[in-house]
Amino acid sequence: MASAKINIPPRIQPEKFQDPELTSTGARRASVELVALQTLWFNTGTLCNLACANCYIDSSPTNDSLVYLQLNEVRTFLDEISTAKHLTTEIGFTGGEPFINPDLMDMLMLCLRRGFAVLVLTNATKPMMKCRDQLSAIQALFPRALRVRVSLDHFSQEQHQIERGAHSWEPAIKGLRWLCTNGFQVDIAGRMRWSETESAMRAGYKSLFRKYGLNIDANNHTRLVLFPEMDSSREVPEITESCWGKLGISPTQTMCATSRMVIKRRGGGIPKVVPCTLLAGDPKFELGDSLMEAKQRVTLNHPHCSRFCVLGGASCSTHQRIQ
Ligand code: SF4
Ligand code: SF4
Repeated sequence: MASAKINIPPRIQPEKFQDPELTSTGARRASVELVALQTLWFNTGTLCNLACANCYIDSSPTNDSLVYLQLNEVRTFLDEISTAKHLTTEIGFTGGEPFINPDLMDMLMLCLRRGFAVLVLTNATKPMMKCRDQLSAIQALFPRALRVRVSLDHFSQEQHQIERGAHSWEPAIKGLRWLCTNGFQVDIAGRMRWSETESAMRAGYKSLFRKYGLNIDANNHTRLVLFPEMDSSREVPEITESCWGKLGISPTQTMCATSRMVIKRRGGGIPKVVPCTLLAGDPKFELGDSLMEAKQRVTLNHPHCSRFCVLGGASCSTHQRIQ
């Protein structure tokens, strides 16, 4: 990664997360080698019909800092997976709201026809429901290979809407019920933003799923993923090489050991590859234009590395440790 300064949120000590190789105390910064590219993510663009209070990528109806990825660009990366014989089994789509991208349906078909498992992250509201006929047709062709992960931040309407805005609950529940009723494989993504314990959160979701007759196991950590909160202004420690042993964590457990994400910046020309779904915003974390260039080691030089991955223990894909 490049060594220029990154933009650090105001409450984090400004000397932290500057040198990619050394922490602010002069210790060797932790880094992660790509073990195998199991999951390739495509960011379909940052536009979203919602503008959530704490969206990690600042999506909104007007933010197109990451523009729509196009079908031919996805095809180029799938071709590279094939020619370079990467061990990729899963393709993930995230945004913004992926269903806003006009090429999404064709992208799903392309990936599924090539034999990948596909995971789509969505808020399950209007943009997804506008695509429901096409989505149903795709699901009928690939019922086991397509998964949809719906963001439902909390099991209560009130808390969910604190994050997602007024009138965001009913459309999400409607979309979620439609997916479950029509036989889709559905997972839920919630947030540990509130002070409840994990077991209280899971119990709350369990009641919600029972109320609506949704066949989702709230105690299954893949079916209900509870992500650590992404308060980017909170102080966090930097991760050094010696932290792995102290924390009892292996670098292979982080998302960047087994995944990469393709993004396309407004005005930036061709798509770029970044280490993971969390570091799309800062061009300094770009690894290259191809999967070959993006094989390089990743140094954990961003607050998200500490807060979300190493100390929060989270991953976006279906392959890895989630909580
Ligand atoms: S729905 Fe997702 S992408 Fe859209 S603003 Fe909310 S968190 Fe961000
Ligand atoms: S945010 Fe997580 S997955 Fe991304 S580079 Fe940092 S440690 Fe790796």
